[in-house]
Order: sequence, then C-alpha cells, then structure tokens
Amino acid sequence: MLILPGNSPRPQRRVPLTRASADHFAAVDRAAAADRTRSSLFNSSTDAFFFAPSSTPSKYELNGGQRQYTTRRGIRLCRVGGKSCRSALCALCSGRRARRQRRELIAALRASRPRYALLWTYTLASTPDAALGPLIGNLAELHAAVNASGWLSSKVDGYARVVEIERPDSGWHPHGHELFIFKKHLSRAEAQTFAVALRDRYLSAAARLGIPASAAGQHVRVVPLDQLDVAARYITKQHITTGPKAGTRTLAMLSADAFTRGDADALALIHEAEAATYRRQLWRVSGACKSPVLFNASRRT
Ligand SMILES: [Zn+2]
Repeated sequence: MLILPGNSPRPQRRVPLTRASADHFAAVDRAAAADRTRSSLFNSSTDAFFFAPSSTPSKYELNGGQRQYTTRRGIRLCRVGGKSCRSALCALCSGRRARRQRRELIAALRASRPRYALLWTYTLASTPDAALGPLIGNLAELHAAVNASGWLSSKVDGYARVVEIERPDSGWHPHGHELFIFKKHLSRAEAQTFAVALRDRYLSAAARLGIPASAAGQHVRVVPLDQLDVAARYITKQHITTGPKAGTRTLAMLSADAFTRGDADALALIHEAEAATYRRQLWRVSGACKSPVLFNASRRT
C-alpha cells in the first residue's frame, strides 16, 4: 500500500512488500533450505538473498581477489589468525553480518509487538559524476535535518535504517530505507499526516542545504503487520554476496566484476566505495527495533 506516491517520472526501483515479494522470499527460503542439504566447500548460495545465477561467484571466489586488491587492511587480513573483520564490504563477513542484523531485527519486532509500521525510502536526485563520499554525507545531513530537535525520534517508538549503495549508469545512488515502528495503531489520516510532514521536512532541508533531492525520490509505505519479517529482510538485503539485480549494479556485482573478472573500472568504484564508507555507520537500530539479545550482548562486552 503506497500512501505517498512519488511524482512522475516513476522511479525504477523494485517494489517491496507486495504479495509477490512475500512469495519470492518464501521461495528463496525453500531453495536455501534445500541447498543446505548439499554440502560443498564453495557453495555460498545459502548466503545469497536472491536466486543467483550460476555465474555469481561464491564468497570464497570473491575473497581470493578481494584479499589482493582491497584497500581495507581489515578485509585483507580477515581470518588471518582466525579473526573476522566483520566489514559490510568483506566477501567473507558481509553475508553473516546481514543475517545477524536481520535475525536481531526480527526478534526485536516480535518482542515489541508493534501496532503499526511504515517503511520510508529516501534518495537524492541522481547526479552523474558525483563522488560517493559526499553523496553519503548529503544523505546523512538530510536525515539529521529531518530529525532536528528529535522530531523523528519523538514520533516513532523505534526505527531500523540502512544506507544502501547502488551504481546505476546514471552515477552513484546511495539511498536510505527506514522502518518506523509504532506501538499504537495509526489511522490512515494520521499515517498520511506523518508521511507528508516527513517528506516536507526532507525536501525543505534539501532546499535549504542546497542538496539536490526531489519528491519523486521519497516514498512512505504502510507495512502490514504480518509482513514485518519481509520488511526486515528487505532492509537487510545488501551484502556483497547478494545476487544481481536488473537495471543497476549493486556492490556485490561490482565486487564480482572487480575481483573475479578483473574489471578495472569496477575495481576503481569498489575502492571509492571502500573509502566513502570507511568508519560510517550504514546500519542503525533504536527503540523497539533494538534486539534484547543485542542489548545483552553489548553489556557483556
Ligand atoms: Zn571479513
């Protein structure tokens, strides 16, 4: 249910949370379960979130090239001496990391029993040739402006948000997905008021800060409560062993091109992504989206 349709032109993004996508994820689950019964050292398909064609390299294949060519020391030394780097860009670690985030988010959502949920997607206008680092910075700046004086935090009981990085031909396309959790039910009018205020704050901040963004890039969708798991999976989908997606290149595809096919242009883009995301938090949860497990685990350390 789209309550805040973007203006034309329609973005080419895949539509989450339809019945078709729920069916799709169920099919992926079944395929992964069937796959686990086979055993192969080089079988990474249990990591793949989407059906991956046979040309998708395994995480071990990717890791071979990645060790040689990454600019990240942590990734280069990952599991040397048994220690994992846990980087979101590491072929060996990113899948496990995404699965942990997903598991913890789903556990938190089940524990907090939300009465209403919305999924917000926010983007920048595509600017070919813009460097990735400043674009990610712009996105963070806009988000901070929307939440000025705790506006957002005061409206929701919890959130989980991710910054995803894609590379269509039109240039870098970093964008955010944020799941908002409410402990009380919202009427359609209340949800709409919130969505419109959210979009207006975002766009007026963009105008004020001189950051190109348009109404077409903002979407707020209602997440039916029985599809919270689907939403949780949707926002934890990006890791570098994800299968290809039509129309745009993901970091997984760039990694495959760079590390297993020797594509120098893709390698340059990966190096840019490595630099642009260094020490940046691309995943964040709070309140009702924060797993009690995570809380306990962080207290133990
Ligand atoms: Zn690693």
